[in-house]
Amino acid sequence: MNVLPLIEAKRDGKTLSEEQIYSTIAAYTRGEVPDYQMAALLMAIVFRGLDASETRTLTVALRDSGRRLEFPQDSRPLVDKHSTGGVGDKVSLVLAPLLACLGFRVPMISGRGLGITGGTLDKLESIPGFTTALPVTRIVEQVQEIGCVICGQSEDMVPADKALYALRDVTGTVPSIPLITASILSKKLAEGLDCLLLDVKFGAAAFMQTEAQARELATSMVRLANECGVKTRALLTDMNVPLGCAAGNLLEVREAVECLEGRGPADLEQLVVESAAHLLTLAQQCSDHKSARNRALEVLRSRKPLAKWEQMLTAQGVDIDAYHKEVSHRFAPVVTEVRADREGFVQQCDAREIGEVVRDLGGGRMHKDAPINPLVGVDQLARPGECVTRNAVVCRVHAASARDAEVAAQRLSAAFSIGEHAPGSTLLVADVIA
Ligand code: URA
Repeated sequence: MNVLPLIEAKRDGKTLSEEQIYSTIAAYTRGEVPDYQMAALLMAIVFRGLDASETRTLTVALRDSGRRLEFPQDSRPLVDKHSTGGVGDKVSLVLAPLLACLGFRVPMISGRGLGITGGTLDKLESIPGFTTALPVTRIVEQVQEIGCVICGQSEDMVPADKALYALRDVTGTVPSIPLITASILSKKLAEGLDCLLLDVKFGAAAFMQTEAQARELATSMVRLANECGVKTRALLTDMNVPLGCAAGNLLEVREAVECLEGRGPADLEQLVVESAAHLLTLAQQCSDHKSARNRALEVLRSRKPLAKWEQMLTAQGVDIDAYHKEVSHRFAPVVTEVRADREGFVQQCDAREIGEVVRDLGGGRMHKDAPINPLVGVDQLARPGECVTRNAVVCRVHAASARDAEVAAQRLSAAFSIGEHAPGSTLLVADVIA
């Protein structure tokens, strides 16, 4: 296949036809387009963009590059939530079992962390025995049997996006709204969903730094997903402060379990309940948002989602007795406290700095195949608005060595600012794009 005319056309700002896009992606998947040409085309797209119709064709072409999930007819709607990622975001761990208990089927195909952004698969793999690699047939069986699965993308699902995303990562071609839209939605469309909720984060520790950029991405994805037959809404959520009080893989699993036990941090519970409520109204299981929110909260408090979580762990390879005995006792070798240097109100708890510290402790990765340490991270984070006395604990560091803990503690002190007056409150969910 000769892609040179396409590269030149996009370079010159022309529109690519459906046939051109579709056949290029098919040829790239078969290994018939060299990476250097694909990289040139991607760079032309970064500069010249894609219109709505080109973006749609690219999305569908990526989706069709591999196998799709096919579920038997069932009265339970198929739903999922996708987050663009942040620090401390463990919503999926609580939401998947909650949605299953609300009468949905949840084929949640998740990703790994990169840079300061945590990944749901890494968090789950911190539980001994948990397997995230499931064949397509097993994904479908588990969803039918217990209502939810959280796993990785199998080799034969959306292979073109896998290859393209790896290429974009090393050629400076990630930041493009149409490319991000196509990449994220191709994977979600391959799940065969009825409804989708997108959590598009903005702020210091988010992929999209400003609310305006997050809105642009959310609008692009909501429009296209709805056009493709998946009822979709997006939340724009604040990621200047970590979500919850813990960041780091096993520490976040523990906090997610606390939320399932009804004693999790308020912001985490709020985002879980809001997300479930939006899916209940999108899927027409509740007529208004208030009653949907009440229903989601009632079911979360029933502890049925906690039992569902354990059922999911068992189905994915965890010995649940060992999990009960072991998980609450597994800690990194060194745990130290970071204390307030003055009395006052916490003004800021900088999610970016905290994410960088967790990554540097070994809890995240700089490049995609790097190993991670499941035990390290931070917890007991003081939140903006909290009143602290001098020497009060503002967070704890979990580290592999005393030296790592010392360096992290110094950096973490600087992540907090403490002032005389209570800061103004910010909204966790800034807007909903419907
Ligand atoms: N996440 C994805 O899956 N794809 C992108 O392009 C960006 C973030």
